[in-house]
Amino acid sequence: MNVQTLRDHIRDIPDFPTDGIMFKDITPLLADAQAFHDSINALANHYDATGVDLVMGAEARGFILAGALAHRLNAGFIPARKPGKLPHNVTKAEYDLEYGTDTLEIHTDAIAENQRVLIVDDVLATGGTASAKARLVEELGGTVVGMGFLLELGFLNGRSKIADYDVYSLIQY
Ligand code: AMP
Repeated sequence: MNVQTLRDHIRDIPDFPTDGIMFKDITPLLADAQAFHDSINALANHYDATGVDLVMGAEARGFILAGALAHRLNAGFIPARKPGKLPHNVTKAEYDLEYGTDTLEIHTDAIAENQRVLIVDDVLATGGTASAKARLVEELGGTVVGMGFLLELGFLNGRSKIADYDVYSLIQY
């Protein structure tokens, strides 16, 4: 995998979704067979020996990466979703956004005691989302084996919020 090639497939969109945010658009990377394949492979290689039972991703972009990675790791996939989307009993975790809060839910029976869960997302920004996902996993008795990201906005220091976990990202900004 060539990190610069992956980086070349990530597009900066200024002031999206709100003023002052530089949005990292990964759709060009997803649309490029080689770049998508290399990204999933690189993440999978990092976690291959870790023994992952389940990969957790949140809607919407998290689903794409977590689903592909789960397949490659021979693991299951569990969705974390915005409130009201999952049909069965749920556990929720609230987390802070720049303005206000948001909530993620997972099914209470999504994780069995001691199952090993890898948390995956496209971007690590402030770490709030990842830390909420970790709370959900641990509340259900699972173990967080790691947190994998396509890219990390290092200047936001998200790692400080998830310092207890093995955090791995392919591209750093
Ligand atoms: P955070 O909880 O701050 O780490 O934010 C991570 C979540 O917000 C991820 O699901 C990202 O997809 C999304 N996100 C945050 N900042 C950006 C950004 N600059 N570009 C693209 N996605 C972002």
